[in-house]
Amino acid sequence: MTLAIGVDVGGTKVAAGLVDETGRIITKLKRSTPAASPPQTEQAIADVVTELLAGHQVAAIGLGAAGFVDRERATMLFAPNLAWRDEPLKQRVEERLGREVVVENDANASAWAEARFGAARGYRDVMLVAVGTGIGAAIIIGGELYRGRWGIAGEPGHVRVVPDGRLCGCGNRGCWEQYASGNALVAEAREFARRTPVGAMRLLQLGGGVPEGISGPEITRAATEGDPAALRCFQIVGGWLGQGLADLAAILDPACFVIGGGVSEAGELLLDPARAAFERALTGRGHRPFAEIRIAQLGQDAGIVGAADLARRASEAPAPQTTAPSSPSSGPPGSLGSESCIRSTSMANPATNAATAQNAAKPDTDQPAAVAATR
Ligand SMILES: [Zn+2]
Repeated sequence: MTLAIGVDVGGTKVAAGLVDETGRIITKLKRSTPAASPPQTEQAIADVVTELLAGHQVAAIGLGAAGFVDRERATMLFAPNLAWRDEPLKQRVEERLGREVVVENDANASAWAEARFGAARGYRDVMLVAVGTGIGAAIIIGGELYRGRWGIAGEPGHVRVVPDGRLCGCGNRGCWEQYASGNALVAEAREFARRTPVGAMRLLQLGGGVPEGISGPEITRAATEGDPAALRCFQIVGGWLGQGLADLAAILDPACFVIGGGVSEAGELLLDPARAAFERALTGRGHRPFAEIRIAQLGQDAGIVGAADLARRASEAPAPQTTAPSSPSSGPPGSLGSESCIRSTSMANPATNAATAQNAAKPDTDQPAAVAATR
């Protein structure tokens, strides 16, 4: 039995586990995250790993971290809740441990765990949508994580769904996560309690008598009791969630959406309205199957299990090509990875765009339009 270590690095805690090949966690440890200091966070990671390594043969070590991880899976480009900015996390932790580690985005790690061992087991086209304070997400296409050219793919929480809508933490307005997240649920409940205190009596009671005292767990509790005001909040937020999933299905057509994050603990209270809205909004409904929408199964362990499994997989894979990642045509010969594709389809070149559109319209074109246009 090969063991691997997975570490889930969040804004408040570092959780790590020794994980076997079947995704079972054998031992687990937790520390609080010294989030303001990158070196201290890295030391906290190294400490939990060192503790788990004692007395065990471990094949690989994976870190799942909350933030933008570059495509080379080495650098944290940006982390909203940690002090990492262009931090060479892989190198820093490897220096402290004297061993190789694999760095991954935490939502990617969770999605991988759910697809391998959890709610989406058996599916090859999966989207994880983690509904917490905001919305995190990850995409698996054809059994592989889709990372995008720079590693940042899968941030639908910041797709604008309401022009000039609510202000988002990212600086834009009207982002999906301002309507379909835990924060949105709380905002709906407080707003309702301010406007209609009599109707929100139970919510106010649970919140200590003031709208500001109402938070997520109280809303879930009231909804579980059948409180109409709390149920209405789930209807609204679940509705926004389902509408967004239909938009994502229009782009990716996954077989299964896995809904994770803290708000997913409300289960069907969230999924019922989400499924209803999804089925109302899906383009071509009635002529295509509906994707499964399921609650995540692995809970808070998903990040640990996924990071460990991805690291084990990387350690078993053949050595990667040593082409410099910044080289303009870094892909292998004949691959579609050349940067010239990106430039040739930019808006600065309308002639090429027209050619691209023409090629795209030809049903017998056997190459992707962008590549055909550059030849
Ligand atoms: Zn945003």
